[in-house]
Amino acid sequence: MKTKKKDIRALTLEQLRDFFVENGDQPFRGNQVYEWLWRKSAHSFDVMTNISKETRDILEANFVINHIKVDVMQRSTDGTIKNAVRLYDDLIVESVLIPTKTRTTACVSSQVGCSLDCKFCATARLKRMRNLNPDEIYDQVVAIDNESRLYFDRPLSNIVFMGMGEPLMNYKNVLKAINKITSNEGLGMSPKRITVSTSGVPKIIKKMADEEVKFNLAVSLHSAIDEIRTSIMPFNATFTLADLREALVYWYHKTKSRITYEYVVWKGINDTQKDVDALVNFCRFAPSKVNLIEYNPIDDGKFQQASNQALDMYVHTLERNGIVVTVRRSRGKDIDAACGQLANKS
Ligand code: SAH
Repeated sequence: MKTKKKDIRALTLEQLRDFFVENGDQPFRGNQVYEWLWRKSAHSFDVMTNISKETRDILEANFVINHIKVDVMQRSTDGTIKNAVRLYDDLIVESVLIPTKTRTTACVSSQVGCSLDCKFCATARLKRMRNLNPDEIYDQVVAIDNESRLYFDRPLSNIVFMGMGEPLMNYKNVLKAINKITSNEGLGMSPKRITVSTSGVPKIIKKMADEEVKFNLAVSLHSAIDEIRTSIMPFNATFTLADLREALVYWYHKTKSRITYEYVVWKGINDTQKDVDALVNFCRFAPSKVNLIEYNPIDDGKFQQASNQALDMYVHTLERNGIVVTVRRSRGKDIDAACGQLANKS
């Protein structure tokens, strides 16, 4: 019977070194192969030219490299690129390259589908199929780094975990991927250029704080009033604002890293003075800033972007209270690549 071969990138460097010793080779062979697998992002054993054919055959017999494949690449009129990425089991996720004058940001997925059910998000309509493995997250970043060099003549500068999925529901693998992205055996990127965006899983936020992670934290808040937040983000009934608040205070206390709140203002949902006052109050608990995101319509119009007047009220009230606020325009809307539009439609 044919046994299933193991994903070689699930092995640590030590395990890979041990494998070679067990097979009568030198431990440093493990280092060579590890460099091919990560820093050089090899798609097959054949390309490992400093490894003998005999050794490559042994690797071939025991392992697979489950490298992702960019199936479809779409380019928006504003330069944004969306990759539909095929995984080894033929499931698809999407990642996005967002260029500005000075930066190239990769927006990557952490799950196939999503475990949460935010009413305004297209990804929520897909069933959560599975978590991504660390190497599948890493590969998305490498693919975008390559595209950035090819089309914009510069390396990738920032990464946001704002694609499909809830990163804190796949925390172990997200952390492994980030460790690889930031390590010298991987891409050597600074964790300060990485932002993990979450709907807010209090227990994991505290765990991250305890581990003193060095990347940035963004929280998709959208309302600081429980009743309203639960109506648009139903998991808020379980992970309430009080629990979230406590976890965020803990996060700041441990990491001294300012939190970003992502917030969409919708007509008739959260566009009154009472809503912005609640947000101001929430912002007082830990140093933070607010990112007002433009809404990207995904359906029949149940959710609509609030008026400019309501947005102005938000900006003025926040600023008057000394809270930093930015208004973020959407990118890549024409190819369904903007926040909340990722739904494998290409
Ligand atoms: N699950 C994570 C990351 C994915 S969503 C999280 O919730 O943060 C990335 C961001 O896009 C979140 O702030 C999310 O609330 C926002 N978003 C989702 N649907 C959107 C839409 N239709 N228009 C604008 N932003 C949206």
